[in-house]
Amino acid sequence: MSERTSFTLTQKDIPTHWYNILADFSEPVPPPLHPATKQPVTLADMTAIFPENLVMQEMSTERHVEIPAEVRDIYALWRPTPLLRAVRLEKALQTPAHIYYKYEGASPAGSHKPNTAVPQAYYNKQAGTKRLATETGAGQWGSSLAMACKMFDIECVVYMVKVSYHQKPYRKMLMHTWGATVHSSPTKHTHVGRTILEKDPECPGSLGIAISEAIEDTVHHKDTKYSLGSVLNHVCMHQTVVGQECMKQMELAGEKPDIVIGCVGGGSNFAGVSFPYIREKIVNKDPVRIVAVEPSVCPKLTKGEHRYDFGDTAGMTPLLMMYTLGHDFMPPAIHAGGLRYHGMAPTVSHARKLGLIEAVSYEQAKVFENGVLFAQNEGIVPAPESSHAITAAVDEAIKAREEGKKRVILFNLSGHGLLDLASYDSFMAGHMKNV
Ligand SMILES: *Cc1c(COP(=O)(O)O)cnc(C)c1O
Repeated sequence: MSERTSFTLTQKDIPTHWYNILADFSEPVPPPLHPATKQPVTLADMTAIFPENLVMQEMSTERHVEIPAEVRDIYALWRPTPLLRAVRLEKALQTPAHIYYKYEGASPAGSHKPNTAVPQAYYNKQAGTKRLATETGAGQWGSSLAMACKMFDIECVVYMVKVSYHQKPYRKMLMHTWGATVHSSPTKHTHVGRTILEKDPECPGSLGIAISEAIEDTVHHKDTKYSLGSVLNHVCMHQTVVGQECMKQMELAGEKPDIVIGCVGGGSNFAGVSFPYIREKIVNKDPVRIVAVEPSVCPKLTKGEHRYDFGDTAGMTPLLMMYTLGHDFMPPAIHAGGLRYHGMAPTVSHARKLGLIEAVSYEQAKVFENGVLFAQNEGIVPAPESSHAITAAVDEAIKAREEGKKRVILFNLSGHGLLDLASYDSFMAGHMKNV
């Protein structure tokens, strides 16, 4: 073998703690506000929909939070995930850059999302929750939570954005296989859903609407709590196992990244790969560049405003200080369903506000072109969401070639696209709108 391309860890290298970036920001993240009183939310406000142990974690500023043994045992079913060097892609691009990717598609659900689904189900079980309600965009989160709930014997109800429900029937089947109930959102089961359907019976749905429905379901059912797959502090924190493993694996590779890249929907896989590196920037003045990648039709970090806004469409969640396009923003039905969210994690938003990260956006057709390029060189068919990160990595590698500089690029391949093949089919048939 000419170049070493795989940097493998063993089970003992699974991180023992999650990393909480709130401990290291030079200024605190502005607190979530109660939608009616505009005062910072209290523990009591939050426990209406979340179990107390997770609310405590959400509010915690402890730097390292220990991962429970039961959670680590389940992580060991797929963690540590592989880190690979994309040597064949480098050759295809004729770049002096070294491109590394962390492969989160190796999880049973095919994305990074089980990294938080499993601890969320665990803490809910500890708190006596019998039923969890949630929303899902492309179906990645719903399937991850369905699997985690089954492992902890909790009932799981998923409100799935209508456009994905129809575009991605296999994820619905996956959720059914893991024992969950799945509704196409907007539904007629909730007040929010009925109101939206009265105005627009053809409404394709959105993550914001589905969140509103899941929260309404939660407050109307006994022993039910709500679970969110991205955005919140504790969710981003759970994902930091990704970046911590990357650091060890990059050490095995004998290199340090100059650029760390992740795609952003609500911000969790990006937070996961980048927060441990942002700590290096804050504490050790590491010059590493951190780049968030979003679709051009949902450009919250590149074109949104940093202000208080609701996390959902109906205005039921606390007000979060974040980059947002407005909670009533309706993104067009692009294939990267997991990136169709109007807001951004408050922690990621804060990092952007403090100048710790950069953001870029790309149009859909270019993203698919690079997804296919990656598949044809590296084998893995990437999720359309992950292809946004690939596109930024490819652009950086081309820039390195033009500047004649060796650069080390690391990106998070947040999931595989084997259940997104209909999108690839549409791209290859030339039917994809370039938005
Ligand atoms: C859900 C999802 C995303 C976007 O969500 P984040 O919370 O921003 O990570 C990205 N990639 C894949 C594969 C996903 O399933």
